[in-house]
Amino acid sequence: MSLRLKFNLVLAGVLLLAVAGAGLYVHRFLQQSAIEEVQHNSQIMMHAAMAIRDYTTELVKPHLDVTLAEKFLPQTVPAYAATETLRRLQSRFPGYEYKEAVLNPTNLRDRATEWEERVISDFREGRAGAGKEISGEVGEGVHRALYVARPITIRQAQCMACHSTPAVAPQTMLKVYGDKNGFGWGMHETVGIQVVKVPMYFPLEKARQTFNTVMTALVGSFLLLFVALNLSLSSLVIEPMARLNRKLEDLATKDFLTDLVNRRRFFERLEAEMANTRIKKGSLSVVMFDIDFFKRINDTFGHDSGDVVLKHTALRVRELLRSSDCAARFGGEEFIILLKETPLDAAMAMAEAVRARIAGAPFDAVGHVSASFGVASWDHQEDSHALIKRADAALYVAKSRGRNCVVRAQGPA
Ligand code: GH3
Ligand code: MG
Ligand code: MG
Repeated sequence: MSLRLKFNLVLAGVLLLAVAGAGLYVHRFLQQSAIEEVQHNSQIMMHAAMAIRDYTTELVKPHLDVTLAEKFLPQTVPAYAATETLRRLQSRFPGYEYKEAVLNPTNLRDRATEWEERVISDFREGRAGAGKEISGEVGEGVHRALYVARPITIRQAQCMACHSTPAVAPQTMLKVYGDKNGFGWGMHETVGIQVVKVPMYFPLEKARQTFNTVMTALVGSFLLLFVALNLSLSSLVIEPMARLNRKLEDLATKDFLTDLVNRRRFFERLEAEMANTRIKKGSLSVVMFDIDFFKRINDTFGHDSGDVVLKHTALRVRELLRSSDCAARFGGEEFIILLKETPLDAAMAMAEAVRARIAGAPFDAVGHVSASFGVASWDHQEDSHALIKRADAALYVAKSRGRNCVVRAQGPA
């Protein structure tokens, strides 16, 4: 697995975890905030209703009681005053509702709906808990709302004036609402609920949109970070490392003076090519050569001139090689050439061409130089060392024959 792939897998894992963690936290936080906002608004509504009720009971009703004998004024009824006042909010704040839902109301408009009846039953039968207030959710989609309900329990005897029997109820009230509804209430009985409804859809929708915006920004930032880290990784780590690796590879496999491959790499190449040749049942040859009287060149012209001869010899060899061949400095003034898919005769011809190329033109400062050659073709049995040993033996035969010549190696013993 490449360094970049490993790095990206770890980075992607960390970023995904960060996005998931942040997403979970932000989602929970925004939902919680939206619900708290709705709860806060419902409390404001409920307390506004209570304030209107108290105001009506304490400051309005006492002044209008005298007129009740002649004309029933519903605005003196606290429930009516609160309901009517808060209903005016609805044009400005749709969905915000206040209702005094009663099982058996005087004004049929206040009759409890099905779910309100269930809440009233919960209070009447003690299921609503010890608290004075319960809350929950009603409706779906755009109609989803939070409700807060408080029980309406008859605690003041004066309530019974209008709600015990039609016989004791004000005639003016009977004229407006009739004698069928709103009677039979008992002291300490829970007859209904004050219920506030506050829409949840819009605050939740706002939370959802905020969540989407935050997450888009977060994912966008992480993508930028991902790209920036990748670019930095390339320029600060991968490319310098690749350059260093190439340098190390060169140091380990190339000869500094001639720029040919070294002995170690030559053996690797030779063994790989022997394996290929075995599969293809092809041919493979090596040409080994050694510069003649090189010590004399060094002694006569100096070591630096000897180095120049080595360099220029390598250049002359290169000019004649095919791209698939491989020339190496085997050591000192000894060179070796690997010829792929080349039988012995073709290898002899190549060796002769190299010999002629070296001996054919004088070298700078030192004049004419020659080399002696040994050529061996692989027999598909021997190992790399045995093959080279045969070429080396042929090379020494060439030396003994007077140098500047090419000698074909003997077959393996
Ligand atoms: P022969 O024809 O029998 O090969 O004789 P020769 O003089 O070429 O062989 P010999 O082995 O006596 O000498 C080889 C010389 O090559 C000895 C050594 O100092 C020299 N030599 C080895 N490596 C280098 C090198 O990198 N640069 C230079 N300038 N000389 C080198
Ligand atoms: Mg020599
Ligand atoms: Mg030598």
